[in-house]
Amino acid sequence: MAEPDALVIGGGFYGCCLAIHLRRRFGRVLLVEEADGLLTRASRVNQARLHNGYHYPRSFLTAARSRSNLEVFRRRFPGGVFDDFRHLYAIARADSKVGHRHFERFAAAIGARLEAAGPADRRLFAPRLVEAVYEVVEPAFDVAALRRLLVGRMAESGVEVRTSMRVVRLGAAGAGVAVGFADGTGLRAGWVFNCTYAALNRVVPEAVELRPRLVHQLAEVALITAPPALRRLGITVMDGPFFSAMPFPSEGLHSLTHVRYTPHMSWPEASAPARDPNAVLHPLPSSRFAWMMRDARRYVPALEGAVHVRSLFDIKTLVDGTQGDDARPILFHRDATAPRLVSILGSKLDNIFDVLDTVDETLERA
Ligand SMILES: Cc1cc2nc3c(=O)[nH]c(=O)nc-3n(C[C@H](O)[C@H](O)[C@H](O)COP(=O)(O)OP(=O)(O)OC[C@H]3O[C@@H](n4cnc5c(N)ncnc54)[C@H](O)[C@@H]3O)c2cc1C
Repeated sequence: MAEPDALVIGGGFYGCCLAIHLRRRFGRVLLVEEADGLLTRASRVNQARLHNGYHYPRSFLTAARSRSNLEVFRRRFPGGVFDDFRHLYAIARADSKVGHRHFERFAAAIGARLEAAGPADRRLFAPRLVEAVYEVVEPAFDVAALRRLLVGRMAESGVEVRTSMRVVRLGAAGAGVAVGFADGTGLRAGWVFNCTYAALNRVVPEAVELRPRLVHQLAEVALITAPPALRRLGITVMDGPFFSAMPFPSEGLHSLTHVRYTPHMSWPEASAPARDPNAVLHPLPSSRFAWMMRDARRYVPALEGAVHVRSLFDIKTLVDGTQGDDARPILFHRDATAPRLVSILGSKLDNIFDVLDTVDETLERA
């Protein structure tokens, strides 16, 4: 295989966006993906929330960056943004880490609009359990539309894409990086960008540096048909062991996720360095939809009419140490033995623009 100037490993949202971006600078950019399609993993299996800050009342930085990145996202991916619903945020009376006054002060601090919900919207919530309800502006993304856009842009910009190709080994090779594939072939690339999310540590030679920094969860996203009263609504109950029911635009359904039941298990990578995180997906666990629903309908009785269509499962990978404030920092790591090997954990879709800026700075300094 001819040598690329830059190789991107992982055809999720991050890998595809980065490959297109790298074509401005490099003659030959190759993207390899182990699955037989693009954006099939975490970039698809999620809440599809295009964050506008409201979700992070305990991390000002994450909230503020989300707000400015949302505007860029709208400009760069207009067809991938789904706005055709109203989004309600509710504050639970008990067990919430923020009260409504805190939430209002925080929204003012990040410059986010917060409107008290009207009587009809408030009536959807059990007043015994919910102290305040607000209407906010927070869209969803449509992963199928994003996939179409990215596939088209990669073709236009001349990114070479190979699916069903798994990288199994990386190592320093002169100034570049040697890459080994599962089929026994290999190549040498000028730069390698490891965008494999949950599998970030599986191929890097100096994984020992990255391991202590990752925590994985086996996550379930239940897809439901929302009852008519909730069909044009997204609902997020804050800020603790509660739930969200949001449009899942790529399938014309809603997702139901619950802070207590969506993570089936959680483990720090350092506790099981030899285990491939993806192994927990085989076999898949039984759904916890019934538990999610049992709790969620106490807060929003109309949810009772939802129909569970199926559940999606995948690994959610977080930077360790963020469990307290729920922040979503980017992990950007240059390998000690192969400095032109960069590993990136984006944490949420809108962080991509900050990642692209950091990649530019890194390449300019190199
Ligand atoms: C349950 C859940 C809910 C979430 N909710 C939201 C949300 O509402 N909003 C938000 O913005 N973010 C959310 N996130 C986070 C968001 O989904 C991720 O930050 C984002 O999708 C990461 O994109 P990625 O391209 O890095 O990863 P992925 O989409 O997982 O792509 C990584 C790719 O690498 C490939 N790969 C792995 N190993 C190899 C290898 N050795 N060789 C070749 N290819 C390989 C994989 O097959 C995969 O396609 C959520 C995540 C989860 C799991």
